[in-house]
Amino acid sequence: MSYFIDVILPIPLQKSFTYQINKEEAVFLQPGMRVAVQFGKTKVYAALVERVHREAPVVYEAKDIEHILDEEPIVTAEQLALWDWIAAYYMCAKGEVMRAALPSAFLLESETIVHKKENSEIIETTLKDDEFLVFEALQYQSVLRIHEIAKIVGKKTVLPLIKRLLEKEVITVEEEIYEQYKPKIVRCVSIHEQYQEETALQELLTSLTRAPKQKEVLMHVFMLQSKSQKEIRVSDLIKISGTSTVVVNSLIAKEILVAYELQSDRIQYNGGEVATSKKLNEFQEKALAEIKHVFEEKDVCLLHGVTSSGKTEIYVKLIEATLAQNKQVLYLLPEIALTTQLIVRLQAYFGERLTVYHSKYSVNERVEAWNNVKANKEKAQIVIGARSSIFLPFTDLGLVIVDEEHEGSFKQYDPAPRYHARDTAIVLSKLFRGKVLLGSATPAIESYFNARNGKYGLVELMRRHGNVLMPEINLVDLKTKYKRKEVTGHFSDTLLQSIREALKEEEQVILFQNRRGYSPVVECNTCGHAPQCTNCDVSLTYHERKNQLRCHYCGYAIAMLHKCMACGSTELSTKGFGTEQIEKELKELFPDKNIGRMDQDTTRGKHGYEKIITKFENGDIDILVGTQMLSKGLDFRNVTLVGVMNADNLLNFPDFRAHERSYQLIQQVAGRAGRTQKRGKVLIQTYNPYHQILQQVTVNDYLAMFKDQIEERKQYKYPPFYRLIKFTGKHKDYNRVDEAVNWLATSFRNVFKQHVLGPEFPPVSRIRNQYHKNILIKIPQGQSLDKTKEVLGKILTSFSSIKEFSGVRILINVDNY
Ligand code: ADP
Ligand code: ZN
Ligand code: ZN
Repeated sequence: MSYFIDVILPIPLQKSFTYQINKEEAVFLQPGMRVAVQFGKTKVYAALVERVHREAPVVYEAKDIEHILDEEPIVTAEQLALWDWIAAYYMCAKGEVMRAALPSAFLLESETIVHKKENSEIIETTLKDDEFLVFEALQYQSVLRIHEIAKIVGKKTVLPLIKRLLEKEVITVEEEIYEQYKPKIVRCVSIHEQYQEETALQELLTSLTRAPKQKEVLMHVFMLQSKSQKEIRVSDLIKISGTSTVVVNSLIAKEILVAYELQSDRIQYNGGEVATSKKLNEFQEKALAEIKHVFEEKDVCLLHGVTSSGKTEIYVKLIEATLAQNKQVLYLLPEIALTTQLIVRLQAYFGERLTVYHSKYSVNERVEAWNNVKANKEKAQIVIGARSSIFLPFTDLGLVIVDEEHEGSFKQYDPAPRYHARDTAIVLSKLFRGKVLLGSATPAIESYFNARNGKYGLVELMRRHGNVLMPEINLVDLKTKYKRKEVTGHFSDTLLQSIREALKEEEQVILFQNRRGYSPVVECNTCGHAPQCTNCDVSLTYHERKNQLRCHYCGYAIAMLHKCMACGSTELSTKGFGTEQIEKELKELFPDKNIGRMDQDTTRGKHGYEKIITKFENGDIDILVGTQMLSKGLDFRNVTLVGVMNADNLLNFPDFRAHERSYQLIQQVAGRAGRTQKRGKVLIQTYNPYHQILQQVTVNDYLAMFKDQIEERKQYKYPPFYRLIKFTGKHKDYNRVDEAVNWLATSFRNVFKQHVLGPEFPPVSRIRNQYHKNILIKIPQGQSLDKTKEVLGKILTSFSSIKEFSGVRILINVDNY
């Protein structure tokens, strides 16, 4: 009798693959364990068992597995179910989901190892230069890996070289599977048993009078031990006693101290006392009661609460209630790096029970977080993280909080799976019969629509905590200001006046300059030419600090030009303005003030962002200029003025969400003003002061904005009334991608008729030397999603069998954002 397993391979295959196993293996293996299998000619992968069964595959003969990698499942049944849903809903391969879900340490891959061939006579002069380099290296090193060889010969493609070396019998190769995860080991010491007793210890100390350093160390060990410290780390001991490893080692050698090794956890909370949560004000109390009431009937509740209304404190109460039931909590955030303030706040309440799941963590830290969540350890009861934390192996998830649920960064763009973390979290939570709270001051149109329809519960909190007033928002008409010559640089006199007033009161100012589509480009005054990226169809943007022209899509950079590349004229000017330019103007306008800048350039590096925040918090910055980053829930006490440098480029962005996004962004930035007793002030500079959205922003009328937008969405067939699926064809050859995508669009149109939009080349149609062409499909409510996807899948299968289109990659984005 034969036994088989279906496995998921971490590659974009549409189907699971079947391997043969023996009876003992069939008894041992469970879904969620990994096995090493060969796939293709030489590649070995860690594959994940999905199912153990007895049905031989029909179209191919099942190979044997190489070996079993796990003692027990590393992936839970709930995770497998979630992966299934993601693959089906977002139209991608399960292998792609697996790749996104597992910490890379679990995704072992084979790596080719090169050995020197023993007993082979090599005549060095017959070797080519590059062959000789490898040969030579192997005289000193027993093995070489592919990337090392690439380094030695200074080339990326070394496979032909390896082939030649094999033929000349210089080397042999072997595939090795390796595991990257290594638990962190710490060395600890304790006093040997025989000295635990008082008199023995006394004797020992006397005997050590001639070795004062050793005695000193021993005293410290003794002290630490009596402070009921369980483990004494050698590193700590050296630090405290001010000695060296040598001294400790000699005590170990004398068997006075005993050394042992401990596997330590890298993810550590190292901060102060745990605080008790705040007493809610009456409005928060009411909101909390309403949320709890909603949860009696519904799984999802939307908390619409204005900025600074105290939503976070409500989350804290809900978390406490969930922990009291011994269930896990997932706190989803748009971006971890931008929310250090919030994390510090939550750590103060929950201490060690909070695990931060951070993309900047090392492989090892990720594996540890994974294991802690899976074992439902106390230290991982609350996980706070960005979108990828939905992939953690929760075992009893009681509550998911999606903070700033309107944020676009919850959607993954590239690579697949192109999932939306908020929507996926709702599915995840269902698997555990848990609850989901979506929170925002400016909910996504979709979420508010669902809440008003009764699909979700809706709770509103329209007052700021402590009776702080919402900021006063005013519009500044740039057109008139320019006409009257009341503009200096990019500052209207109104804005300048308000900045001066705030600074005089020793208050702080935030200025917002949106970056998108508005970075400075260099243009020739004579012929109008603007330098372009060589790999993408975009103009290069000017970066003053480095005096460079850079591409924002691919990173290509050249030194700033002195002459026009087209006509040779030296009359070049920079158009548009970014944060850098605003910063420069401010320095001239306010020479004795401290100006800070927060954007992608200034926040690079591990703590770049935190440094700026801290400086601002400490009052070392008077005026902070920044991009979107400023809108992310920052809480500064002393900011009374927020200026929006130019609202128009946000509003004019060619996207059906442009208006919704503008409202959200401006409202969120405005929310940074006046978080204490003094009423904050917001000034928005614009050429369109009568724009509906800006009018709604000034009076904080979310509902009016919602009603307008929902009407437009309905009329122009957009979400939430229609679902969108975007298909993007990609290839380096323009004609090939053109023809391929046209063929696809025609096939789609045969079935879906007028609901197919395009095909069309996007405004930036070449990125990194790849041409892009898009098709958009709109799926009306009531049309079966599964059926639609089935049909689309069939068309894509025919597409992939057409030879002329080979090499054209089709990217699918469901619920395209
Ligand atoms: P939101 O998340 O809605 O923007 P926060 O939760 O950040 O609002 O609250 C705004 C400010 O008010 C914070 O500094 C917070 O500490 C404070 N705050 C909120 N609720 C309370 C409360 N019940 N008691 C004391 N301070 C509160
Ligand atoms: Zn020119
Ligand atoms: Zn480029």
